[in-house]
Amino acid sequence: MTVKSVWQYYVSSSAVLRLLGVFRKMVNESLRIGIANDASSLRKLSLLSYNQLAQFDSPSCYKLCAISRAAGILAARKKSVRRGYATRAPYAVRPQLVSCYGFKIENGYLRIPVSRGKRFSIPLTKHSLEVISQPGVKVRSFTLTTSILSLCIARDPPRMECASTAVVDRNLRNLTVGNENQTHQYDLSETVRIASTTTSIVASFRRDDARIRTSIASKYGRRRTSRSGQLLHRATKAIVALAIQRRSAIVLENIEGIRSLYRKGNGQSRKYRGRMNSWSFGEAQRQIEYKARWVGLPVIRLSRRETRGSSVTCPRCGKRLQSDKRLKRKLWCGNCRVVMDRDMVAAVNLARRGRVRFARSRPPITEAQGGAVEAVMGNPTPTVIPGVDAPKLTQPTKS
Ligand SMILES: [Zn+2]
Repeated sequence: MTVKSVWQYYVSSSAVLRLLGVFRKMVNESLRIGIANDASSLRKLSLLSYNQLAQFDSPSCYKLCAISRAAGILAARKKSVRRGYATRAPYAVRPQLVSCYGFKIENGYLRIPVSRGKRFSIPLTKHSLEVISQPGVKVRSFTLTTSILSLCIARDPPRMECASTAVVDRNLRNLTVGNENQTHQYDLSETVRIASTTTSIVASFRRDDARIRTSIASKYGRRRTSRSGQLLHRATKAIVALAIQRRSAIVLENIEGIRSLYRKGNGQSRKYRGRMNSWSFGEAQRQIEYKARWVGLPVIRLSRRETRGSSVTCPRCGKRLQSDKRLKRKLWCGNCRVVMDRDMVAAVNLARRGRVRFARSRPPITEAQGGAVEAVMGNPTPTVIPGVDAPKLTQPTKS
C-alpha cells in the first residue's frame, strides 16, 4: 500500500475555525496527559485521556484522532530524546484538524461533521477530484488548516516486472540517470545558482536583530525551497516516466549521514560547507521514491558498503581511476587510456551493483540475457563507456 496526498485551498467558516481550535486544545490536553504519565503508545494514551476529552465540545470521532496525533508527536519526541537531542515540551501551536473518521465524499464535496447534527461541505477542485477518482485510489484521511485542505490517498499498485536497473545519482549540479547502456544527465545547476543567490540576499541584510534575521532567513529559505523544488519535481517526474517506459527498477544510494561529511572542523572552508549543505540530497530521493512507489516500480537502496569507491573505479577494467586538476570533473584510467566523466562512472558502477542486488531477489539471469558482471581487475567487460576515448591531456585546456 502506498500513500500520497493531494491538497487545495478552501474557504473556512467560523464553525470550522472553532473546531480547529478545539482540536488543537484536545491534542494539547492529550500531550499533557501523555507527558505526565510517560505514555506514548496510542493504546495507553487512549485509555488515559479519552474520558478527559469529554469536556470538549467536539464530534466524538475527532477525539480519537486528536489522541492519535498526540501519540504521534510523543513518539517522535521519544525518538529525539533517545538520539540525544534536547527537546522542549511538545505543544501544538497551529489550529489544525486531522481525521480518518466521519467524513464523506459525495457529488464533488467533502462533507465533515462540525458539531452535533451539523455538517460542513467543502467543494473539491477539479484537480483533487481527478486525483482521487483514479482507479484503486482510496481517501484515507483529511487534514484541515485555516486555509488548506489536504487529502491523504492510498493505493495498492500492481508490482511492475522489471528487466533492468537504472541508477539515479544525485550530484551537486546534476542528476545522473542510467546504466551501462546509456546515461542521461538532468541539469540542476540552476538550483545551485538559486541557493547562492538566496545566501547573498540573506547576508545583505545587516540589521543586528535576531528576530528580524530569523524571519528574513526563513522567508528566503522558503522561496529557495519552492523554487528548487519545482526544478527537482520536473526532473524526477521525467526520470520515473522513463523508468516505467523502459521497465527498469530504480537504484538509489543510501545517503544517510551525509550531513556529517560537511561539518565544522572537518577541514573544509566555510563557503564549501555552505554550498554542500545547501544541496538538496534527500529531496530528490524522496520525490523519486514516492513517485516510483505510487506506480509500483521497485526501488533498490544500496548500502554504504555497496556504494564504496563507485566514483573512482574504472567500469571497464576495475582499476582505480586517477583524477587530475586539469581534467576538472573527469577521470583518467591509466590501464584503458580513457578519460571518463566522473558522474557517468558513478552511474555505471552503481547501476551494476544495483543489478547484482536486484538479481538476488529474482530467478538468476545469465550474462547472455543481460545479467550483471562486476568489473574486477583482470576481468575486462565489454562496456560502452560514456566517455571520450582520448589520450590523457598533456596541456591544460581552457574550458
Ligand atoms: Zn580501465
